[in-house]
Amino acid sequence: MMSFSWYDADMPTMTIDTLRDRLNKWKGIDIAKTANPVFGYGNPKAEIVFVGEAPGQREDEQGKPFVGPAGKLLDELLGSIDLKREDVYITNVVKFRPPANRDPTPEEKEACLPFLQMEISIIKPKVIVPLGRHALTQFFTKLNITDTHGKPQKVGDKLTIFPIYHPAAALHNPGLRQALFDDFKALGSFLQEQKS
Ligand code: URA
Repeated sequence: MMSFSWYDADMPTMTIDTLRDRLNKWKGIDIAKTANPVFGYGNPKAEIVFVGEAPGQREDEQGKPFVGPAGKLLDELLGSIDLKREDVYITNVVKFRPPANRDPTPEEKEACLPFLQMEISIIKPKVIVPLGRHALTQFFTKLNITDTHGKPQKVGDKLTIFPIYHPAAALHNPGLRQALFDDFKALGSFLQEQKS
């Protein structure tokens, strides 16, 4: 069965706060020199971590992930399964806003990946929800969001990756809104099953 060595790594000296400080000083990619750092936000003891693509304008302004229109929909989706932001941890693959909201480049994703992996290995969630294809391919290079959304992928015996469409996709294509709510419903049932 597949496993992620970075997930199993122990990080006794690293905390979410020290990692955030490290990101605040990091200038490893060009956009880190012009945009504001947007680190993850939420409960560092969460059992579930949501991973988006990259910050947009609102996120850049406020220094927090998912505070713009996609974040509003994410709050609704979380609420639909009785979750609040304080219950979960939300982060992005790329920690800086790409100019004009262009797609993050492969180099930007690769350069930011260690931050994402360290956040996850400090938190050690039971479930990771990649939101959209940019996040999904950080975990499974060959999986496709259209085929796998709503279908839990087990990794070893402690972790499940539960891919879901990116909420912004439903803002551009309202036909995807129902699929997002259906996938969150499946996620809610999955989380309940894990508890029983
Ligand atoms: N879209 C993302 O992927 N992340 C954010 O933080 C906001 C919008």
